[in-house]
Amino acid sequence: MPHTSPHPYNNTPSLTAVTSSFAQPRAAYRTATATALSTYTTDPLQWTASCIPTVCNIQDILAPTLRRSCSAWAAALHNGSDGSPLDGALGNWEPVVTSIAAATPPTIEGMSLAFTTVITPLGSARATRVKAWRNWCTVLTWAATRSALDSTLPMDTSTLQAMLWDFTSLGASNSTLKSIVDAVVSRHREARLPSPVQGPLAYSRLIRCLARVLGRPRSHKQGITRDMVVSLLRSNPPDLLAFRNKTATITLTLGCMRPSEGAAALSCDLVFNSDYDAGLRQYMGCTTLHTLTRKQDQERKGHQMRFGVATDPQLDINYQLGLFMDMAGTRPRTDCNRRPGKKCTVCPPLFPKLAKGPGGSWVVPARATPTPALVSTMVTSALHTIGVHSKAFTGASCRMGGLTVATEAGVPESILWMQSGHAQDRAARHYVRLTNPDRLYDTWRAFRL
Ligand SMILES: [Zn+2]
Repeated sequence: MPHTSPHPYNNTPSLTAVTSSFAQPRAAYRTATATALSTYTTDPLQWTASCIPTVCNIQDILAPTLRRSCSAWAAALHNGSDGSPLDGALGNWEPVVTSIAAATPPTIEGMSLAFTTVITPLGSARATRVKAWRNWCTVLTWAATRSALDSTLPMDTSTLQAMLWDFTSLGASNSTLKSIVDAVVSRHREARLPSPVQGPLAYSRLIRCLARVLGRPRSHKQGITRDMVVSLLRSNPPDLLAFRNKTATITLTLGCMRPSEGAAALSCDLVFNSDYDAGLRQYMGCTTLHTLTRKQDQERKGHQMRFGVATDPQLDINYQLGLFMDMAGTRPRTDCNRRPGKKCTVCPPLFPKLAKGPGGSWVVPARATPTPALVSTMVTSALHTIGVHSKAFTGASCRMGGLTVATEAGVPESILWMQSGHAQDRAARHYVRLTNPDRLYDTWRAFRL
């Protein structure tokens, strides 16, 4: 008779009896962390708001210990989110570089240090670096809590499995676990150490296992349709705020833009009659909207959206954008310093933040740069005015809708890429040089305005 060992989890409660409260295990984990860290520091612990308890000043607390116990301590403690002085310079890098260069000794060490602090961090977007560091703090917090600091970097497979199990039992979501795995893998790559998830197959298999247990159906979002754009163009906004919301929503949809791109746009990025002024007389009244950075365009080749003149004057977005700028007083300034590839430093935002003025009317405040979240609110508020209240519509609905309408109308990917940075086919991303800008109006034309 073969010997069968009892399964270690024979007493697992049936699935229907499992409750989904993670409050108690999380509180217990937090206490364990606080106890473990009390041996390293008497400083107060700063907790992040993430679902897995994470101490964000963990770097300072663990630095002396890691320097002693971990051979790759420098990589384990490197906070890439510190960023570069050039973050957000958007093309205006000359003054920053000149002043740093003046203070840099002309030695190999000095110049190499300048390169690694100023240029190297720009290898990935700042938001990506901040997120990667936060996830690594979660890993370091865990390692300190479970006495695993000496197997953190490099990390072995069983340590990684133990950590993922621990986080799963604390109710971490699938996306959180995936970003934790990504943080571990990228830390090993940076430190040139063998990763606990070696090879592309091992990675995808691990991610798939996690998704099978914890995956959730994607929340269903919808794109803005042509009919909604037409209703918005025809609507009569009661005040400046509603007018801004409406023009922002239409522009973002026709231009297949993300809220972050709408938030970054300045009034001088919208150029009236640019093709007309280049001698192409059929484009009178048309506009070009320049976008300096897109998610897929960190090298800042730039994208240009074209907005043509509608047959029905009521449906003309160019006219409405001009009118909005006149009413808000946000036309480009006379001392505008916009140059190709460089962000202007004086002109107001295209879709500014608004504040209540003394007379109760909406005015543009001194600091009027909107956040991407505010631009998303502009979109949902504008949709409310035309009776669209569904939660399936968010700021992302503009880009989704614009791309849907353009794709259905057969606009080729090479053209979409030049305007919106969208192309499944990587080859389409290579610059197609057009001698005639007419094709760039195809996306706008798809809306049949
Ligand atoms: Zn300007």
